[in-house]
Amino acid sequence: MRDTLVLNASFEPLSTVTLNRAVVLVLQDKAVVEQAHPELRMRGAAVDIPAPRVIRLCQYVRVPFRRQAPWSRRGVLVRDRHRCAYCGRRATTVDHVVPRSHGGQDTWLNTVASCAEDNHRKANRTPEQAGMPLLREPFEPTPADAMLLALGAEEFEALPEWLASAAA
Ligand SMILES: [Zn+2]
Repeated sequence: MRDTLVLNASFEPLSTVTLNRAVVLVLQDKAVVEQAHPELRMRGAAVDIPAPRVIRLCQYVRVPFRRQAPWSRRGVLVRDRHRCAYCGRRATTVDHVVPRSHGGQDTWLNTVASCAEDNHRKANRTPEQAGMPLLREPFEPTPADAMLLALGAEEFEALPEWLASAAA
């Protein structure tokens, strides 16, 4: 997967994102292309743009790099790409791995994105008790996650079909 470098509006490097995400940021007018791949273009019905190698955000974002990003439900969904930690389908809810009724906290390491069905099925049980193993362990958000969160650009799953194929 090719990664695209993201610069803040002030030109400082912030993070890298996948090519698809970079193109979506450009299409959403959240970023402009500073440097493009010489050969590669992203083509669609209404769009034909050079594949970005470096993009720059249109608005300056303050991204908490050093200190820990504050926990939020939206942040968990962004970190997990709106994918359910139990089945991999689209997630719209946040599940506490160790349930709150068992003393589980609102922290990055104790929460995962979950589809409503699995969240309901797991109920007030741990993954072990429910027999629902996690597909991946929860983790602290990366700088890229924190940046996307700061941009309010969390809806990346709704990529146009052609974009996914063009970037493959
Ligand atoms: Zn699920």
